[in-house]
Amino acid sequence: MTDLYRLLPEEMEKLVIDMGYPRYRADQILLPLYYKFPKSISDIKQLPKKMIEELIDAGYTIGSAKETHRVESDDGDTTKLLLSLTNDSSVETVLMQYGPSKIGGHPRSTICVSTQIGCAMGCVFCATGQMGFETNLKAEHIVSQVIHFAEILQQRGEHVTNLVFMGMGEPMANYDEMIRSVRILTHDRGFGLGQRHITISTIGIKSGIERLAEENLQIGLAISLHAPNNELRKNLVPTASPNSVEEIIESGRNYFKKTGRRVTFEYALMAGINDSPKIAKELARLLKGNGSHVNLIPINPTAGNFERPSENSVTTFEQILSDAGVNCTIRIEKGTEISAACGQLRIDMLE
Ligand code: SAH
Ligand code: SF4
Repeated sequence: MTDLYRLLPEEMEKLVIDMGYPRYRADQILLPLYYKFPKSISDIKQLPKKMIEELIDAGYTIGSAKETHRVESDDGDTTKLLLSLTNDSSVETVLMQYGPSKIGGHPRSTICVSTQIGCAMGCVFCATGQMGFETNLKAEHIVSQVIHFAEILQQRGEHVTNLVFMGMGEPMANYDEMIRSVRILTHDRGFGLGQRHITISTIGIKSGIERLAEENLQIGLAISLHAPNNELRKNLVPTASPNSVEEIIESGRNYFKKTGRRVTFEYALMAGINDSPKIAKELARLLKGNGSHVNLIPINPTAGNFERPSENSVTTFEQILSDAGVNCTIRIEKGTEISAACGQLRIDMLE
């Protein structure tokens, strides 16, 4: 079985030609796939009946995600779905909508996709990390999370504007499938999302960052740092040791040099752990003059015993970074009450 959502437009063209059909038949598949969201190959009415039968006989399918559960935040801006995928796993995907009043400029509909079920990195503050690793998702499973929300948005006269790889899993630990999904979703004959509207978030796997820098893509990179030194970081990200803080910063710098895209360092603030003024100063020294951006995320409650710092210590932390000339924001948290915020993604709706 091959899911048509797995194929790059060039591969779709090759398939069609190998089957003995003219090239334009590929676009007659691609256009509906990314704009009309058919649920089966026989829904693609433009194709000759014979071709539909041949595709089905050859084992091609259209693998849509099926919604099994939905939760919306009180303000309606965040929607978390539990999606059942064609590999029989259940995955969480989130839509976050930001009106112009909140961020200025155009309204945004950002989809947060998962790349794995669970995660092997075991970060102590992260709900996904605490459930352990189950499986890697295929590119078509990542694409179908986006397609599912694209269809919902289309029905409301809206569309997907941004995509972040910040759901369950570590994107760099599933590199080939992750990058295939990026190529399909950004291809102008695929889903056609602008490369600059995509951000990959990684715990800082150096080899993955280096590979991504060579892809000739204009996508954004976020590195989850959480600590300015290896000693502290090891307690929070237990599998971090092969990639030291220094190496991670260096690969971020190279990413910026190669792509021209500014790197964001994510920093989950935990009361009494990594939020002191002393640590803020150490972080400021580390990142100063790097042209990077720090995103401070006051921790969301998860299974762990970590607490969110007081508003006062968050502001002090931010002030120390800003005073040192390190560009810094505090992340607008969305969906905390429905467990859709960062680090809260887990298959708890099944329980
Ligand atoms: N594995 C990747 C991407 C998924 S996690 C990564 O770690 O970057 C997405 C973001 O959520 C990361 O910045 C992660 O550190 C953050 N996060 C995890 N648990 C969190 C929690 N409990 N509160 C706030 N942010 C959290
Ligand atoms: Fe995995 Fe990211 Fe969670 Fe760490 S923070 S366990 S890398 S999903």
